[in-house]
Amino acid sequence: MTCTFLTCPPVMSADGDPLVAFFLAEGYDLDRLRAEHADDGSGRCRACGGPQSGRFRWPCDTRRAADRAVERQRADRDTTS
Ligand SMILES: [Zn+2]
Repeated sequence: MTCTFLTCPPVMSADGDPLVAFFLAEGYDLDRLRAEHADDGSGRCRACGGPQSGRFRWPCDTRRAADRAVERQRADRDTTS
């Protein structure tokens, strides 16, 4: 198994998506992340799309992974409670 991050996340079962697993393992503030990576009103990500780049279509990879991580947390909560 290859790890693309500096610290290998202990959770590797998040649908095989390393970014989702990373967010969950690191305890990221997903609400804030999702708020930051929001549609800027023209179909681009506010956080990823800079003045010159403008090629990061929304939802970006980060936003999609954060959304999946939230779903994942909810699913875990539902099954464990
Ligand atoms: Zn983004």
